[in-house]
Amino acid sequence: MLKLTYKCTIALLLLLSSLTMAQMPMPPKVPIWDANKVELRLQKLSEDVYAIIPSTVGVETTTGIPQATTGGFIVGEKGILMVEVMLNKRLFDQQMKLIRSISDKPILYAVNTSDHGDHCFSNYLLPDATLIIQNEFAMENLSKNYEGIKQFMISLFGKDRGIENSVYRPADIVIPKNSNLKVELGGGKVVELMNIGTAQSPADLFVWMPQQKIFWAGNPFIAESPAIPWLFDGYFLEPAANLRKMYDLLPEGTVVVPGHGKITNKAGIKYTIDYVEALKEQVQKAVSENLTLEQTKARVKMPEFNKGYVLFDWLHFNFNVPNAFKDISSTQNK
Ligand SMILES: [Zn+2]
Repeated sequence: MLKLTYKCTIALLLLLSSLTMAQMPMPPKVPIWDANKVELRLQKLSEDVYAIIPSTVGVETTTGIPQATTGGFIVGEKGILMVEVMLNKRLFDQQMKLIRSISDKPILYAVNTSDHGDHCFSNYLLPDATLIIQNEFAMENLSKNYEGIKQFMISLFGKDRGIENSVYRPADIVIPKNSNLKVELGGGKVVELMNIGTAQSPADLFVWMPQQKIFWAGNPFIAESPAIPWLFDGYFLEPAANLRKMYDLLPEGTVVVPGHGKITNKAGIKYTIDYVEALKEQVQKAVSENLTLEQTKARVKMPEFNKGYVLFDWLHFNFNVPNAFKDISSTQNK
């Protein structure tokens, strides 16, 4: 009986989430970026450490055009750890070609920093021996909801971009919330994988090389200004706290590979922190004055942060303000 109720609840939740998806407000342009056109490039960050970035990031990050997923890889004595596997086979093949232009060592590990398809949908193309590392929630969500995530990715990144072909391949190593894992690749290449909780979604995983001071930020830090965070997974207060916590943990001189933009540094990702903190403060004020969500949206327009990011209105008014309002009103009015 209990099990049946549980199943019904799950079915209802799935139904609700597919309804939510069907009604999800759409960005001004679909696909947000085109995985059939993106060209990936190599950028050396340190000895044996490389970022893989879209060719357009140098120009378009600053002009506010949403960019495809960044990744990278680290070559140790024992083999290679790659960060992200990209949305489709076309981009995965480009990534592999770039890796093979540097080293023919085995790919020991592939890390996905999110359960969104642009970070993990090409796992099925990895060599059999490669171990996939994810946040524990990411693995659980992908195992239960792969088709739903696929439809979500197709809705934002388009049909016929190879998303349809993705096949679920489970992670081999998962990192629970508030845990870290250190991978020793040999030759002074230590990679720390950090699950500090929700910073965009509960599936986030940060990649940190303490000796080299190189940080793969994934979706929580999308890009430097004028990009604002994509807090569209339904969370605000936990991301707000964790973005600040992660930012504070990074030492000066850190090289930051953001989730979707050009290589930057702490100053470059400060814009995300400033936006989130200003949003929090303004929504707190609105809630304390008992404004409704609609009134809050009308007041908290934050033009000082609207500096030409193509997705500003879509993210700010449909997700960031409503999620902040939901989280803040549920704690503040208790
Ligand atoms: Zn992404």
